[in-house]
Amino acid sequence: MNCGCAEVITPGLVDLFDARERMATAARPVAGGERVALEEAEGRVLGDAVAAALDLPGVDNSAMDGYALRLAELTPRGLPVIQRVPAGAGVMHLPEGGCARIFTGAPVPIGADAVVPQEKVRLDAEGRVHVEGGLSPGANIRRQGEESRAGTPLLASNTRLEAAAIALLASHGIAEVTVRRRVRVALLSTGDELIEPGQPRAPGQVFDSNRAMLKSLMAHQSIELIDIGVVLDDPHELQRALERARDEADLVVCSGGVSVGEEDHVRPAIERLGGIVFHGVGIKPGKPFALGFLGESLDAGTPLVALPGNPVASLVGWQFLALPLLQGCQGMTPPPLQRFPVKAGFSRRGPRGRRELLRVVIDWSSGTPVAQLAGGQGSHMLSAASQAHGYLLVDADTDVEEHHAYGYCPAAQFGR
Ligand code: AMP
Ligand code: MG
Repeated sequence: MNCGCAEVITPGLVDLFDARERMATAARPVAGGERVALEEAEGRVLGDAVAAALDLPGVDNSAMDGYALRLAELTPRGLPVIQRVPAGAGVMHLPEGGCARIFTGAPVPIGADAVVPQEKVRLDAEGRVHVEGGLSPGANIRRQGEESRAGTPLLASNTRLEAAAIALLASHGIAEVTVRRRVRVALLSTGDELIEPGQPRAPGQVFDSNRAMLKSLMAHQSIELIDIGVVLDDPHELQRALERARDEADLVVCSGGVSVGEEDHVRPAIERLGGIVFHGVGIKPGKPFALGFLGESLDAGTPLVALPGNPVASLVGWQFLALPLLQGCQGMTPPPLQRFPVKAGFSRRGPRGRRELLRVVIDWSSGTPVAQLAGGQGSHMLSAASQAHGYLLVDADTDVEEHHAYGYCPAAQFGR
């Protein structure tokens, strides 16, 4: 199909960071939103910005268990305790000539200008309060509105709602929010050899692990899954499956069949129904990754991510490349890739012409972080990936040398 995007088809391998950028810019946020209860909002993306409706804290309150008093009334004779203010009490007035027993979170009575923590108080035989050490005006008082005043912005639109943001909304008494509609993602695996876990396995058959993995990776994203299942290596079947995916989904994710062998029917099928934006990324594992679309163009059609069949290549392709596209479709700005230098605890020859993403664990036993291989590094070997804390990102044409530092990308940044 001639889509006018021939100029974006790159010969050779696309650099990892280039590819990430292209994935992020390919994303079009889904339109439409809905109101959901805060308890249903985990992982959803805010449709509208949220501002504080009230001051937080709502009143001046005590940061400590102790005594609220007027500093000017402190004398060597001490102060009698004439009031008791537990958390949940209303705002009281502190009568002159005495102090209030107060507890953390309780409203500071009007008139008091400091709270002295109980650890700094000596009570004499008559129960009068003597303060040990200095105390400045305002000490241990959390001021009304010191965190946020009514009207101040709390959360920007397109924030992904996780524990702290949800708690922030709850702390402002907000019980319902407007979130973006979930992204409809069609998911399929391709391969004549694939069978579902739980079935008996005949020689030559392979359990479909990619679909289970991708479902798990997407479980905490704001998506609605359209599970198309396993599709055989047959051009007609593949075309029918992709047509259904195109009609039902905002984003299509498939794995397998995207290399250049004669049993790899994915690229020709995409080209029949749309086009390829780029195919082939300079990473190991993960090289045969493709971004394409079904329809007239990337903008007017449905984006399609074709992940490699080998499970670890599929995992890497998802985490480093597909996720930023899905985040963009959810309305989020994909966060920059976190990486920082970590020394290698091993030596290893690197591939030529591609960056390598080694699955590593971080060992702190020497007091500083050292990356060690998490296990066998074959792109079909999920064991190491299942143990790894993250990836050692090694530049192209570079051999890893023990004690030298390389980029480390924690796996945690890719979600749970
Ligand atoms: P392909 O990209 O289709 O040539 O597949 C490359 C390798 O990945 C082959 O060994 C496939 O059997 C394996 N593979 C492809 N798809 C899956 C899948 N969904 N789950 C597990 N392994 C797969
Ligand atoms: Mg295959």
